[in-house]
Amino acid sequence: MHIHKSKDGERTAEVAVFSVKKYDIEHLEPEFDKIGVKVTFLQTQLNDETVSLAEGYPAICIFVNDNLTAANLELLKKSGLRFVLLRCAGFNNVDIAAAHRLGIRVARVPAYSPYAVAEFAVGLMLMLNRKLHKAYARVREGNFSLEGLTGFDMYGKRVGIIGTGKIGLLTGRICAGFGCEVVCYDPYPNPAGAAEVGMKYIALDELLATSDIISLHCPLTPDTFHMINDESIDAMKDNVMIINTSRGGLVDTVALIRYLKSGKIGQVGMDVYENESGMYFEDSSDDVMQDDTMSRLLTFPNVCITGHQAFLTREALMNIASTTAQNLVDLIQGNDMKTLVLP
Ligand code: NAD
Repeated sequence: MHIHKSKDGERTAEVAVFSVKKYDIEHLEPEFDKIGVKVTFLQTQLNDETVSLAEGYPAICIFVNDNLTAANLELLKKSGLRFVLLRCAGFNNVDIAAAHRLGIRVARVPAYSPYAVAEFAVGLMLMLNRKLHKAYARVREGNFSLEGLTGFDMYGKRVGIIGTGKIGLLTGRICAGFGCEVVCYDPYPNPAGAAEVGMKYIALDELLATSDIISLHCPLTPDTFHMINDESIDAMKDNVMIINTSRGGLVDTVALIRYLKSGKIGQVGMDVYENESGMYFEDSSDDVMQDDTMSRLLTFPNVCITGHQAFLTREALMNIASTTAQNLVDLIQGNDMKTLVLP
């Protein structure tokens, strides 16, 4: 596979780009254009039913809810797939071990804008705490009553950050700026980074038991799947706020609902949902909702749900597009890459 424009301007490398929206095309098209790559943009999500659309392409470019199982990778390998370009940081949606076995190289965008996600996570904290979602709707209806809108000072509250990578550290830094006491847990600690931000590592059990706000910033792995479950919620402070901008599968949503109903959990902000695939990024406002768990979540006044929006800033979209195009160049040229995903 080569990237070059022939004399008549025709491009030779071909990439099928799945799950694209208008804002993706606006940013990706000029970057692929710069490197002379022929691109097919598809709105379709890549999954077991749609995998045949990817057949024959040497490279495919996918997003968070496109699913590449071992079986799909085997099928695509037979039709010449060599490279998978993830337009995101997380890679739980690709069977990396199978890709490696098949010699398909996978690259991701490790940090398109950690600021975007950290700022959004804190935005959810403020919205829930100060009930901005209710205030906005109330005032638009001419209701200027403040009844039921009492919040709490962020100053002095303990915020527990689970996962102190790029986004976790930045979230901690913003919270420290409010005068929160920021504690954190990570099995691979970064003491220098945490110290700079003013966060203190403590044991996970202690973080769960003592934090007023818990914000999740770790990847979804077999170890972290449903880390927020009956047992861990039981251990939390009464009235705790839980924020999840990482991956839906970190939280056992059915357990979450049980503890929201009992009143144990004070507030929940979630930008990601374990069954979001097939639902998020689409307008289904004219349809009857089929997901009973989501329907129940939407009834709670103290739950704010957004549709995997935390990454969506202009800066992030530009970084995603330029890193994705560079990843393709590096993969084709066999360059050393920090963005390769290995098992
Ligand atoms: P990162 O790789 O920089 O940091 C992840 C951290 O989690 C690492 O320090 C790692 O050691 C830690 N970790 C691993 N296992 C853990 C465990 N069991 N408990 C606690 N910590 C653990 O990743 P990042 O860029 O900070 O992103 C964090 C997550 O945010 C990503 O995995 C991704 O799923 C999610 N994300 C969401 C959006 C969005 O739009 N909502 C956008 C980008 C990233």
